[in-house]
Amino acid sequence: MSFIQLEQVTKLFSGTQKPAVDAINLNIERGEIITLLGPSGCGKTTTLRMLAGFEQPSTGKITIGEQVVYDNSNAIPPEKRGIGMVFQDYALFPHLTIEKNVMFGLNKWKSKDRKARAREVLELVGLGDFAQRFPSEISGGQQQRVALARALAPRPHVVLMDEPFSNLDAGLREKMRYDVTNILRKANTTAIIVTHDQKDAFAVSDRVVVMKDGVIQQVASPREMYRCPKNCFVAQFVGKTNLLTGELDKDLKHVRTSIGKVCLPVALNEISDNIKVSIRPEGCQIVAAGAGNYSGHVERVTYSGEYQELYVNFQQNKTSEPMVIYAPIEENIEVGSVVSFNIKTDLVCVVE
Ligand code: ATP
Repeated sequence: MSFIQLEQVTKLFSGTQKPAVDAINLNIERGEIITLLGPSGCGKTTTLRMLAGFEQPSTGKITIGEQVVYDNSNAIPPEKRGIGMVFQDYALFPHLTIEKNVMFGLNKWKSKDRKARAREVLELVGLGDFAQRFPSEISGGQQQRVALARALAPRPHVVLMDEPFSNLDAGLREKMRYDVTNILRKANTTAIIVTHDQKDAFAVSDRVVVMKDGVIQQVASPREMYRCPKNCFVAQFVGKTNLLTGELDKDLKHVRTSIGKVCLPVALNEISDNIKVSIRPEGCQIVAAGAGNYSGHVERVTYSGEYQELYVNFQQNKTSEPMVIYAPIEENIEVGSVVSFNIKTDLVCVVE
């Protein structure tokens, strides 16, 4: 049995027609870092709040550790669920020192143990020297680590974090993704993180849960989700992709699309039309002029620093959406030129 289980959990807010969370099932293992990822309004925060006990499901069952924290006959209050919460704005008490902020989460502990534990978790998050400062005297990233220390201090079963990186600028955000993951791993804590940012999710998680309209679309490791997205929504939400539709050849391994035949990594079981394939931009490999299986006109080139992003249109089909292809920065590619490329079969994926 998994450490945390959500079984058929639904939330229909009163006065609304459509469930905010619709019959979701999710199993989380002890020590896992899981991210709930999806666009605004997809039900991430509601799911997190139901786990915390701030919101009650309309139906379903939630188990944390040995304890059924919610089912149709029972609702354990938030303070008895063994949960540590890190809020988006950190919610530190401005009039208390960092140490006292952390000790606040330990109000049920013996007073002689509280200070020692606060010191221990402040060391863990790398803020041992900041114990006597006030929140206004430390940086945003440090405030976030204090919030995490406060959540970890009582040794919760699980830490829940709501958009933990959204208040941080780009550089600090990257550092905090690294720091937060390290701290959670060292503390050996199970964590569930809500974010709408794919980079956050991929950087910190063992598994990512993509949600849309209250429904789980896919649960997978970042690598698996990127390489084998289940449907068009996931393919487009986690990174850039090219979606092409076509008919399957008799050999069950090639799809006839507007750019030509695309080979699938594995043959399908039966003939069908309207097959959708997702091809990642890095799945297209630029080759010498005329040497590739596909060629198209370059409409636009943008530089990311690490690669060039080419928007390529096809001679046969100039009205369709251009394909996005990544090319190495050392290639000199002009707008209006024709590029020739091949598609790496293992980066092609059939999607629903
Ligand atoms: P965001 O990233 O914008 O925070 P989210 O994915 O966390 O979005 P939720 O906050 O869980 O989404 O909201 C899911 C849906 O439930 C939305 O349509 C929202 O408007 C609705 N909703 C949330 N809270 C309530 C409420 N208290 N009463 C009615 N509807 C609500």
